[in-house]
Amino acid sequence: MATVTLREEATDLLQRLIRLDTVNPPGNETLAAELLRDYLADNGVLADLYARVPERANLVARIPGQGGGPRLLLLSHTDTVLADAADWQFDPWSGELRDGEIWGRGALDMKGQVAANAVAIASLSREGFEPSGDLIFAATADEEVGEDFGLSWLCREHPDAVRAEYCVNEGAGDRIDFGEGRIFYLCSAAEKMSSPFRLSVHGRSGHASMPGIADNALVKAATLIMRLAELRPEPRMEPEVAAFLRLLVGRQVEAEEALEVARRVHPIAAELVEPLLSLTVAPTIISASQKRNVIPALCDLICDCRLLPSETQDEAESLLRETLGPGDYDFEWLEGQGGTRSPIETPLWEAIESFVAAEEPEARVAPVCLAGFTDSHWLREAFGTVAYGFFPLRTMDPEVAARLVHSADERIAVEDLELGVRFLRHVARQIGG
Ligand SMILES: [Zn+2]
Repeated sequence: MATVTLREEATDLLQRLIRLDTVNPPGNETLAAELLRDYLADNGVLADLYARVPERANLVARIPGQGGGPRLLLLSHTDTVLADAADWQFDPWSGELRDGEIWGRGALDMKGQVAANAVAIASLSREGFEPSGDLIFAATADEEVGEDFGLSWLCREHPDAVRAEYCVNEGAGDRIDFGEGRIFYLCSAAEKMSSPFRLSVHGRSGHASMPGIADNALVKAATLIMRLAELRPEPRMEPEVAAFLRLLVGRQVEAEEALEVARRVHPIAAELVEPLLSLTVAPTIISASQKRNVIPALCDLICDCRLLPSETQDEAESLLRETLGPGDYDFEWLEGQGGTRSPIETPLWEAIESFVAAEEPEARVAPVCLAGFTDSHWLREAFGTVAYGFFPLRTMDPEVAARLVHSADERIAVEDLELGVRFLRHVARQIGG
């Protein structure tokens, strides 16, 4: 048999993963877990499946550590969001390889990283790599919906399987050229908290032909929506944003000038920084009367809301109540998920820096906080894991990549897939060496 390169191995594995339909819901991630188990077994890596229900298995594999060193977890999820084939140039489950790119749902989010993680641990195992601490590979279910079949469930029910001091997950890794020699690879070290809330606005119902005798809850809600739309919280500086801007302009930047400073450098810098200076509120769902001629006594408004990692719900609630002013409404948080961070001065950060320095000496690694959130928070909360989102993307334009995630024509450059494998092998050696 001709020697297969790591690039070909990762390409083949990614194509096979894409051809499995793991759209969540319903997920069916066991398809991917079984494919990965067989692939890893062929390479001498034993894996276990952990499933709350049979069709939604998580897979965890490891090369056991030899010397009591820190454990490194290469984390990924095998489910994807849905795809409407009518919008795509190729079948979203084809794994088509065309002009150096592999096409299909999940190529970027995140079967590409699943495949790269698997090839990294398989190839290290073949070479007889003996890490000082466990090198762990976890391909989990249910990240996209989050109904407790995936990492949240593993952390609670099988903590020993996924407990680790360090973790590399999805979230960032894009290479961005801000001009004047400022080439950054973004690494996410923190995430905002998903903290949606409901406003139940009360009025008095009545026949819509005589609005004067009723008190229309929908109309009252409109005023509250306008107040939320006009909310401009005081900017505040999170440590990742401060470090990012310091790298960008070479000086300490204050919260009040942060957006303007970023804007002067590059529109992408401004886009990155803007949602990280305060909480954000976006009203998204409203419901009131179910009948055209009945004035609603109740209007339910749901707002997406994202808090800074340093911000609490109590603190945000007082700001929001002050913004809304007195009125006939109830305020209720619907959840509070994420909003965690890991420190930046760590051996894992150094391992990422040394990889970037070797690949592209003029580039730097810059920390970011994600406006969204990933599964990393489960590990930080359960074990205090230092978790970063990093999968280097150098060949594909970062703006193109950002548009393709959760959208039509998702694809990854084979060059980037191979770069990812190199990166993961480097980090495993640095942490486990
Ligand atoms: Zn993802």
